[in-house]
Amino acid sequence: MIIYDDEVFKMACDQFQVIADYLNIDPNDRDRLMYPKRAVAVTLPVHMDDGSTKTFQGYRVQHHLTLGPTKGGTRFAPSLSMGETAALAMWMSWKCALSNLPYGGAKGGVAVDPSKLSRRELEALSRRYMQEMIPFVGPHTDIMGPDMGTNEQVMAWFMDTYSVYQGYSVSEIVTGKPVAIGGTEGRREATGRGVVYLIERAMNILKIDPEKCTAIVQGFGNVGSVAALSLAYKSGVKIVGLSDHTAAIYNPKGIDVKAAEQHIFKKGHLKAFDQENHVDPNKLLTMKCDVLIPAAVDRVITEKNAAKLQCRILAEAANGPTTPGADLILEQRWDEIFVIPDILCNAGGVIVSYFEWVQGLQSFRWTEMEVTDKLFRILEHSFAQVIKRAKEHKISHRTAAMAIGVERVLKAKKVRGLFP
Ligand code: NAD
Repeated sequence: MIIYDDEVFKMACDQFQVIADYLNIDPNDRDRLMYPKRAVAVTLPVHMDDGSTKTFQGYRVQHHLTLGPTKGGTRFAPSLSMGETAALAMWMSWKCALSNLPYGGAKGGVAVDPSKLSRRELEALSRRYMQEMIPFVGPHTDIMGPDMGTNEQVMAWFMDTYSVYQGYSVSEIVTGKPVAIGGTEGRREATGRGVVYLIERAMNILKIDPEKCTAIVQGFGNVGSVAALSLAYKSGVKIVGLSDHTAAIYNPKGIDVKAAEQHIFKKGHLKAFDQENHVDPNKLLTMKCDVLIPAAVDRVITEKNAAKLQCRILAEAANGPTTPGADLILEQRWDEIFVIPDILCNAGGVIVSYFEWVQGLQSFRWTEMEVTDKLFRILEHSFAQVIKRAKEHKISHRTAAMAIGVERVLKAKKVRGLFP
């Protein structure tokens, strides 16, 4: 389909076809499982600080409506396209189904570099985006959340814009909003916490001691920073590599992650942090470590570098960090590298978003301990299912995880019929 014409969407479709072949899915069911149910493109004019009016392109894709409303993040990134948004929505579908959440996948966003906007411009763009989306979203239709380039403040502007339109506060329209306006305790940390929980489970299976381990984290935003800090200061893992979009640092003696966090607070990026240990960002992923965590953008582990990875555990915190070509190489290296696939590894975010939505619908608050405890229970269940299926069927962890998700959606479509 021409509107989704994009490398990332092609990658998501190729991954799906691998699973469809493995599950022997009838060709009549494949397209309706794969293609999004709905896609919306919007044009967003914004008054800029210099007096000009700039026009941005926004998207929202709702992948399937079979299991409940759709749910998915909002990405503000310069290269965002309809195809990439659709790929991310499809991955959300399998992710929600794997965790047994009552959602179809969705994703949205704006093609923009948010770091180039003033706060006022960012607010105007965020509000305009939500304004345009009002006819297509709702607490029982499609619930937004944060993703790359958006944060709690952007979610607050979304919620406020939607609520002003309704005439009353509708906190359930977005998740990942500040606790002060109905966000849940533990949402900001949820994805990174989940990543670390699963890494510890993998270490346990591999019988390796976290205190003797090293880790490299690509991306030091919401997910990467929480994962790096938790690994360093709670699990006892030495962080030897860290990067963001401006710099990559490698120090076998260990990086002071708290100092890196403070530096980000002050400067906004890692460009001037620990400059004597800067390395080529392209080489960071293939440097020696026990745990490699891509927590930034998609397609960073490819046919070109998959054979060179030197980690024991690959924890895919980002969405779509590994290409299908790289997967074939990693499948051959299954006894060297334990892969925690993205739809399992970063599911903590949507799981706690689901808790936030449920609390919002019920106007009832849970404690952070309740949230985290429930999060780990769901992750544990999914992790155990994926490992069991991979072992029994002699398939990769990714195939096992996606197969569980796709199967659940297919089963629901079969009993419901053609509409959703
Ligand atoms: P974020 O915007 O908070 O942080 C992104 C980080 O990646 C920043 O440090 C940025 O500088 C860095 N980065 C960008 N391009 C890079 C590059 N080429 N090389 C190295 N670093 C680069 O985003 P986030 O919310 O932490 O999301 C990170 C990834 O995790 C994304 O793939 C996102 O889809 C995925 N994810 C996020 C959540 C969530 O709850 N936030 C949930 C599930 C999955």
